Amino acid sequence: MAPSAACQLSLESPVTLVRGCAAARAQRLAKLGIRTVRELTCWYPHRYIDLSNRASCAQAPLGEVVSVVGRLEGVRQKQPRPGMHIIEAAVVDESGAMALVWFKQPWLINSLHPGDRVCATGKVAFSYGMRQMSSPMIEVLGSGEDAPRQGMVPVHRACEGLSAAWMRRLVANALNQLGDLPDPLPAALRAQRGLMGRKAALRAVHFPASARQLEQARRRLAYEEVLRLQLEMMLRRNRELAGARPVAHAVGRASALLERSLPFELTQDQRRAVAEIQGDMQAPRPMNRMLLGDVGCGKTVVAAFALALAADSGCQAALMAPTEILARQHAGTLGPLLQQAGVSSALLTGSTPAAKRRALLEELAAGRVQVLFGTHALIEDDVRFARLSLAVIDEQHRFGVGQRAALRGKGEGCDLLVMTATPIPRTLALTLYGDLDTSVMRQRPGNRPPVTTQLISRGSRRIAYEAIREELAKGNQAYIVCPLVGLSSKQRREAAEDGRMGGALRGEGELANLKAAREEAAYLAAKVFPNARVGLLTGDMPPAQKAQVMEDFASGQIQVLVATTVVEVGVDVPSATVMMIEDADRFGLSQLHQLRGRVGRGQSPARVFLVADPGDDDALRARMEAVVSTDDGFALAQADLAARREGDVLGSRQHGDAHLRLVNVADDAELVSLAHGDARAILAADPGLTAPEHAALAAELRAVFANTDDECSKGA
Ligand code: ADP
Ligand code: MG
Repeated sequence: MAPSAACQLSLESPVTLVRGCAAARAQRLAKLGIRTVRELTCWYPHRYIDLSNRASCAQAPLGEVVSVVGRLEGVRQKQPRPGMHIIEAAVVDESGAMALVWFKQPWLINSLHPGDRVCATGKVAFSYGMRQMSSPMIEVLGSGEDAPRQGMVPVHRACEGLSAAWMRRLVANALNQLGDLPDPLPAALRAQRGLMGRKAALRAVHFPASARQLEQARRRLAYEEVLRLQLEMMLRRNRELAGARPVAHAVGRASALLERSLPFELTQDQRRAVAEIQGDMQAPRPMNRMLLGDVGCGKTVVAAFALALAADSGCQAALMAPTEILARQHAGTLGPLLQQAGVSSALLTGSTPAAKRRALLEELAAGRVQVLFGTHALIEDDVRFARLSLAVIDEQHRFGVGQRAALRGKGEGCDLLVMTATPIPRTLALTLYGDLDTSVMRQRPGNRPPVTTQLISRGSRRIAYEAIREELAKGNQAYIVCPLVGLSSKQRREAAEDGRMGGALRGEGELANLKAAREEAAYLAAKVFPNARVGLLTGDMPPAQKAQVMEDFASGQIQVLVATTVVEVGVDVPSATVMMIEDADRFGLSQLHQLRGRVGRGQSPARVFLVADPGDDDALRARMEAVVSTDDGFALAQADLAARREGDVLGSRQHGDAHLRLVNVADDAELVSLAHGDARAILAADPGLTAPEHAALAAELRAVFANTDDECSKGA
């Protein structure tokens, strides 16, 4: 396609200027977040059809996965019995025909149009005297579109009203219409790192000629993503700290009293972490430390020492937690401890009544509240401290870059301590947080009772129910965790249909078979534990109600708590000794481990039941066995990474990762540390990024990060 001379585009041009983008389509694109040419060209394909494995219909080798390209014909739907939908079709090329068949996917019929040029990819079998693919992937090639003889066809994520074929054509048009693009990477750096030019990389990532070229393009663009994010974070930090006067804290009376009023001895790991934090805080530069410790290691009390040290120096401290439940818990356990050490504290959350909030903010601004616990409510604009010198963020992976910065920004040169049980590779931590020191805690506080984990099938739930009854009889309590809150009416309908089909399917289509907390709580209360007090906790309940349920559970009012993953984070109820996790296969390993960390916090041994049916899915079985056999959260996080479930490891709220679309957490460690080092070197030589050879890079940062502040400060 020839570039249109009439309309040369820049990355900032509106997508409506791309040839073929009519207004109605532009609206749909906007829903995907695509408004500019930049956003369109960053809409990277989520997969590619490799036509190097292409075959003709007649010669397609049996037993292999290949692609055939041809005309779609003979589309028809059959229903041999109620609930059993079969779609048959054929793809025809010069050599002959290939039969296509799909089971139980009736909706597919709407996207199969006889006469379309399609590319069908699947495993070739021989059936009724014909070559056949069952459940092939079908890619419609645009009417004018020539399937390349070789190379790879990109498949862009599409949506209703926008087909992948149309997206592909639009991206191609945009690339053709693009004028000269300045390359943000200085030529010398590109040469040194062996990276291809930007425009070539953009073209190749969308329309690669080979797998090798695709990898080179991805590598170049991924490097740039990391470099940009690093530079931006370093520049922001430099701006924030310019002229700031960080506090050099001094250990005093509160720290000493706190140590004396603890009901237990600190573990060695805790003592080391406290010393490291105190060392940082005493230094006249801002602390930047991550406290990394598996669930139950006792991070909270370590944080208390940091809070006391701020008070010792006549300053204030804030501790922010991701949920109201957790913020309350911290205020409830640390508040009294701090009080014994002569430190005043208060709690601020979204449900703090207006009058109380007003009074509290006044006390805070006057410096009379020394420690403030809370949720995202802490980062609202009108929350002002007299002298905030320490920001602590619990379960930090639940917060975005901007949220962490917002809390820290309430004090000048403020020390930062972030805590998490979810380890991330050092290189990735560098990318997401910039330079960060780490304190690691591996020991759990002594004499912890053992927690045993067992995998049971859906058919043997009674094993878990029996165990729960035994524990209740001893006066203990139980959690039952479900993956869903409740079933919508649509899901219920699907459930009914699925039931008629009699199929126990696995995969996305079987939402209907998943346990939903609301329904499950009602069922359990009526049928399974009629003599117990069963409660319900879901994320969509109002905060006050959630707090009430947690209080009732903590006090023993509720004996069996049916919940979604809201109980995952930090909740501490010592007499909870048994947990049953329904549909355990729906959770990441780190997540299962975090859930499991809610039991075994008291004196008695605890039991965890994972309900899942791995059947002959070996990978799934291995994942479940991993949780059963190891109690090492770091190892499980590593396994999650290996399975490329970065989302589990990162949490869904690492806003930084919105800027890391092409970086692969598991494989790109080397690339990440290269880019990190390069970013440092660039700023060391040119701190304001004002040198002429960095002009394009500086402009790129402005374009990419212009609006990220609002994006980052969205509440979670
Ligand atoms: P996490 O690291 O998961 O945030 P917590 O700080 O919630 O862990 O601590 C878990 C439990 O261990 C709490 O009940 C806490 O009181 C208790 N704990 C913490 N440190 C010690 C210790 N040194 N000895 C005994 N119990 C401890
Ligand atoms: Mg915790």
